[in-house]
Amino acid sequence: MSRIFNFNAGPAALPQTVLEEVRDDLLDWHGSGMSVMEMSHRAEPYKTIAAEAEADLRSLLAVPDNYKVLFMQGGATGQFAVVPMNLRRDKTSADYVVTGAWGKKAIDEAGKYIAVRTAARPEGDAFNHIPARESWTLDPGAAYVHYTPNETIGGVEFHWTPEVGDVPLVADFSSNFLSRPIDVSKFGLIYAGAQKNAGPAGLTMVIVREDLIGQAQAACPRIFDYQLVADNDSMLNTPPAFSWYVSGRVFKWILAQGGLAAMEALNQRKSDALYTYIDGEAFYSNPVAVTDRSRMNVVFTLADASLDKAFLAGAQDAGFAGLKGHRTVGGMRASLYNATSQAAVTALIDYMKEFVRTHG
Ligand code: PMP
Repeated sequence: MSRIFNFNAGPAALPQTVLEEVRDDLLDWHGSGMSVMEMSHRAEPYKTIAAEAEADLRSLLAVPDNYKVLFMQGGATGQFAVVPMNLRRDKTSADYVVTGAWGKKAIDEAGKYIAVRTAARPEGDAFNHIPARESWTLDPGAAYVHYTPNETIGGVEFHWTPEVGDVPLVADFSSNFLSRPIDVSKFGLIYAGAQKNAGPAGLTMVIVREDLIGQAQAACPRIFDYQLVADNDSMLNTPPAFSWYVSGRVFKWILAQGGLAAMEALNQRKSDALYTYIDGEAFYSNPVAVTDRSRMNVVFTLADASLDKAFLAGAQDAGFAGLKGHRTVGGMRASLYNATSQAAVTALIDYMKEFVRTHG
């Protein structure tokens, strides 16, 4: 068996020790005689697994007591609709800060459930920087302000939390969830799909301030009504039980590494190394404003795009996966989530150097 250096954007690399643990427990979980996949979600063993995962996630993010932690389905894409269905309340419109392709999708979907306003967005479609906070035009009567802390395709990340007054701040943390500490109390709602830093696909986590829920639109499906999900401990219907379990193991792994501060230090080291190399080598370039560069998704182009195919073929032969940029933007992208090691990044930089030597 050999494991390659995995730079996939999501689903993405998981910690090897977690995979080994899951493998060891696969047929007989702790003497139960069955796999977690085969358990009733209503039975005691699974309830314990689920509750422990929630407790560990709360501990990692220091989630205040007045926030619900929900384990849902439908992905972040589902939340694009579920957020306005739940948070419109007695308001009429919501503000969106659009800094990339995912923010665009979020506002387009939300428009079916609430009037949407673009509060900030860079000119054109290049999406290579974050508009300065002073340039945002926020509506103090908005139901919420939505933004995307990390744009997975463009490689643009907020390294600050926007101040938006009393309007609840809503964040799609899908691609930098658990990559660094955050102050949950600054947010009305946070959501993230599991399949980057937290676990396998199929699970969507929502952290929401209690006073914002309980007023879902009448047409909101029961399984997407935050209040009903919370009242039923995220088991209103059958949850994504296996993804929840594996994510729980990933939470324990992060805790054992030293928590989110340790993840942040690691992610900073990895991305700094790659950006420093790219900036120092004329053959490669990254289009994102230096202050807004993502630590999770490093995008880069080759000086001569006709060499892209050779770069990717050589990368595959050398044991790297997932370096092709998103189909809508081309070029390359290295996703450096928590489970991607410093060694993987060093090996990638060595490969990039060798490619310049042979093709530059
Ligand atoms: N938002 C962001 C920032 C993402 O990166 C993604 C997935 N790549 C999505 C939303 C959509 O997530 P899902 O596939 O879970 O619906």
